[in-house]
Amino acid sequence: MNLLIYGPPGSGKGTQAELLHQAFDIPHISTGDILRGEVGAGTELGLKAQPIMAAGGYVPDDIMIGIIRNRLQQGDSAKGFVIDGFPRTIPQAEALDSLLNKELGRRFDRAIYLNVETPELVRRLAGRMTCPADQKTYPPGTERCPLDGARLIQREDDKPEAVKKRIEVYLEKTLPLLDYYQRQGLVSEVDGVGTILEIHKRVLAALGQSAEVAES
Ligand code: AMP
Repeated sequence: MNLLIYGPPGSGKGTQAELLHQAFDIPHISTGDILRGEVGAGTELGLKAQPIMAAGGYVPDDIMIGIIRNRLQQGDSAKGFVIDGFPRTIPQAEALDSLLNKELGRRFDRAIYLNVETPELVRRLAGRMTCPADQKTYPPGTERCPLDGARLIQREDDKPEAVKKRIEVYLEKTLPLLDYYQRQGLVSEVDGVGTILEIHKRVLAALGQSAEVAES
């Protein structure tokens, strides 16, 4: 199953993509995680991306297209994949279509659009805490990771100015992708407000899968 999970920052894309990875045993490809890995490793790409990400901007299209091309060529996607955080611009979407159709002989089965209104996004992102080990996020005020006890950190791009910028950039550059994928008949809109499990069940229903997968 080749899936795209799409929505504004703070809509829960990463969390839902992770559950789809577990449910269908397909790789979760997150361009945000790939970039954070590069930043953490101090690579040339990481050094270039770090200030852009910290300010809530977008890393240039040519770099991002190179990253997704390399990742999809790694050969672990035989059963499919779930892509989270890419594409974020129309040129990225066009490049991905051409990469999938012409180079890899694949196409998307579905694009899940997680819909969450802006005031709720701001509420979720402002003060959100992240585990430095696995990048899982927790509500404001949580000090320690419930899984490994590590002290949680606030991502640079979850600070108030960056949150504002991320939402503005999303509305300007990424929201138009909804129309792009709707024209291809690929979009399933899912209400992104509720518990993680409720939303997971909605996502599965949109994929025509029974909720038992979620509980097994
Ligand atoms: P995310 O974890 O998906 O919210 O991504 C974190 C940050 O990485 C974003 O705010 C951008 O700065 C950068 N980023 C991730 N994916 C992309 C992309 N497809 N295009 C441009 N920038 C990206």
